Amino acid sequence: MYNKTKIRKITSQNAKHQQKYMEIYAIGGYDEVGRNMSAVRVGDEIVILDMGINITPLAESGDIKVETLSREELYNFTIVPDDRIIKDKKKVAAIVLSHGHLDHIGAVFALAEQYDCPIIGTPYTLEILRKIIKGESERKTKPTTIFAKKSDDVEREYDGVMTTYRELRNKFIVVPNNSKYKLNENINIEMVGCSHSIPDSAIVVLHTKEGVVVYANDWKFDDSPTDMNFPNYKRLFELGKQGVKVLIDGALNIEKKGYCPSEYIGQEILKGALLKTQHQELSSYGSLLVVTAFASNIARFQAVQRFAEMLNRRLIVLGGSTVKYITAAQGLGKISGIIELYKSKSSIKTVLGRVKKDPNKHLIFCTGNQGEENAVLSRIAGRDYKGFSFPRGTQVFFSSSIIPSDINKKNVENLEKLLDKQGCRIYRDLHASGHAYKEEHREIIRMLKPKTIIPCHTDNEGKLNYFKLGIEEHYKIGKTMLALNNGDVVRIK
Ligand SMILES: [Zn+2]
Repeated sequence: MYNKTKIRKITSQNAKHQQKYMEIYAIGGYDEVGRNMSAVRVGDEIVILDMGINITPLAESGDIKVETLSREELYNFTIVPDDRIIKDKKKVAAIVLSHGHLDHIGAVFALAEQYDCPIIGTPYTLEILRKIIKGESERKTKPTTIFAKKSDDVEREYDGVMTTYRELRNKFIVVPNNSKYKLNENINIEMVGCSHSIPDSAIVVLHTKEGVVVYANDWKFDDSPTDMNFPNYKRLFELGKQGVKVLIDGALNIEKKGYCPSEYIGQEILKGALLKTQHQELSSYGSLLVVTAFASNIARFQAVQRFAEMLNRRLIVLGGSTVKYITAAQGLGKISGIIELYKSKSSIKTVLGRVKKDPNKHLIFCTGNQGEENAVLSRIAGRDYKGFSFPRGTQVFFSSSIIPSDINKKNVENLEKLLDKQGCRIYRDLHASGHAYKEEHREIIRMLKPKTIIPCHTDNEGKLNYFKLGIEEHYKIGKTMLALNNGDVVRIK
């Protein structure tokens, strides 16, 4: 049972009923892919789930720098979620982040300062956040570390490590996967491990007096996750037995039938293409090799490290965002070995000079798989590094898929034209997605048996596809399965 209404219509609610229901705030990612943000209110407390950015409007408007925009402009250009629907910011008890992708954490810099509460996430998520906070530098901001109080009444309890950073007044509380953190007497936060395409990705579970909310936004059931972040089927099954009130489920790939292929398969596809270049009988032998992938996909990068070794080539990593994600993984001991990282224009120019002398002895790993104009790949293709262009026959491997938007399609098309002009050979879609397909969503619904399901991280078409599955699983639109838009607040009894 629920009543859907806008927050402005319910501000005069009777205080004595506040403990009797739960409210879900659909803030961002309910009309689009990107800028994910939800919130759950129970009584006088609100927990925010994710605070993501939507970079599409930025890409469409050319050279706008996000740091130069005011918060109002960021709302108006639909770059950050419009959290003005949370009228009483003092009620927010925590911001919980599910993983380190920018469409889940990228709006923290603009929004979090409004909330006097901690930011909670798994180790890699908070490490990435620390690296992207504007003006942050490891040298000038040594965090203070406080050990959070241990909870007595939950299993697999974790002593959250609390850190404070100068740029944000929010404390950071690190909670690893498959552990719980007691926020206060009313709310326990649990991180359930589940595969995705970035280290330490979590399904977030809120245990409240009004029931359990499972926030599963960006996940897949991968039984061969090369980063060892296995789906915790056992815990999800247990939660289902104990009772789940609401499942908020990221529906990005819902239209795809079956199961999403494993990350292991994605890596094997890339391996098959790359290792062909070691056969002298093939024309692909002996050229410069370039791999571009999502910078945050550390498992994929580690595979490229292995392939470079097998090919006996020197691996060169280029580009600012790739360096950020890799150094964060190095800092947490998730990547080993010496890695040559180059992010400044001058250092990239210098190393490219070396590559030019011996192209067949190098493998470049770089940003730019979405054709972003400022990424290294587009800049080399556009001859932005004077004196260097790709030697004819250079092979460019896209270990990624295009994030579906008109601007990305156009950018990749432009990039390919430039690469064609330089005589490059292009290999596309050497990739496995990080997002669950339809049958995985069916499995999570059957395991959790939620009383109410709310799809998120999708548009109206995605919601319709999700509802087709929900109907097959005996859920009813408007009763046990809700379509929310950005700005909606729904009350669940
Ligand atoms: Zn993600």
